Amino acid sequence: MKTPLAPSARSLPARTGRRATLLAALAAALLPAAALLGSLACQPRQSQASPTDGASAGGAAGKASAMRPVYSKSGYDVTPLPRATVEKLASRLDPEAYRITQKAGTEPPFCGTLLDNKKDGVYVCAVCGLPLFSSRHKFHSGTGWPSFYEPVDPAHVARKPDHSYGMDRVEIDCARCGAHLGHVFDDGPPPTGERFCLNSASLKFYEKGTPLPPESQPVKAEIAYFAGGCFWGVQHQLSRGPGVLSAVSGYMQGHLDHPTYEDVCSHGTGHAETVKVVFDPARISYRRLLEAFFVMHDPTQLDRQGPDVGDQYRSGIWTTSPEQEREAKAYVAELTAAKRFGDRKIVTVVEPAKTFWPAEEYHQDYIAKNGASCHVKDPW
Ligand SMILES: [Zn+2]
Repeated sequence: MKTPLAPSARSLPARTGRRATLLAALAAALLPAAALLGSLACQPRQSQASPTDGASAGGAAGKASAMRPVYSKSGYDVTPLPRATVEKLASRLDPEAYRITQKAGTEPPFCGTLLDNKKDGVYVCAVCGLPLFSSRHKFHSGTGWPSFYEPVDPAHVARKPDHSYGMDRVEIDCARCGAHLGHVFDDGPPPTGERFCLNSASLKFYEKGTPLPPESQPVKAEIAYFAGGCFWGVQHQLSRGPGVLSAVSGYMQGHLDHPTYEDVCSHGTGHAETVKVVFDPARISYRRLLEAFFVMHDPTQLDRQGPDVGDQYRSGIWTTSPEQEREAKAYVAELTAAKRFGDRKIVTVVEPAKTFWPAEEYHQDYIAKNGASCHVKDPW
């Protein structure tokens, strides 16, 4: 696939100091001359870039302002940062780290401060703090640069082709701030077979047990539950909310554990088809979710929604805190006072959440997978 920067690690199993030196020499021979001038002396070079000169950092960070929030599976906000924010963060770096992260520089092999770090902990982006790699996936590659066989979350490390210096490589950048990290090659160890080759200057290490700063922590997500008829369409629309990490279809407020769809459709279990919403309150408020919910469905229909009839299609809000309960009831009162639905009474039930039972896999993301239409209106 891609031409490795250094020779295949597999072809040189015994990496003594002498072999490592040989490898370094080979790697050096393949490195762009510009990156190597005076490099083996391990002295930080003076960057020619000033902290305010930030033209070429990662493309991901450039067009950020109009983007919807993006979350990784591990619960981090990885929305590309606006260029101005990246500039501000990068201005705190030392000249060498600035050159490497903002100008796609490379530090000399065997010189980075994290090469021989064997402590347990997490490696975060030196610019924005996003966790990128873990000590669990670090290995000794002999190349002279910190090496990992996988990132902590694939969504945290962006890849792009790099054809500079006449080589065919894959550059890796921080997905959130666009900081240049290094390259990824296909000569790594199992289980991935990949080798993420890092610059120490692009990383900051936090030893296990050290408190992480807020920018290195996952979002403090909250949970909300909405029942608005058949969960297919409700789940589809809520999953599109800006600031929603996930929306899952399931069953709630009944009296049978582990209910199946057939159980619920038999009308004997008391469950309502419900969507569990995990959201980032820093990006979307509970109030905004309530507003969307009352646009999406008709809260004046008792035990039905459109063509679907039965108590599993009842309109309900299952609250996870006294604050949510208060806010939901106040919003229903507000809509009632404003006669939002004319003379028709809002029958939505607001009550504390019981156990959420996820629905069968074939119900998840049903609209996205099957393209079916449904009664639910787009509230966004
Ligand atoms: Zn970053």
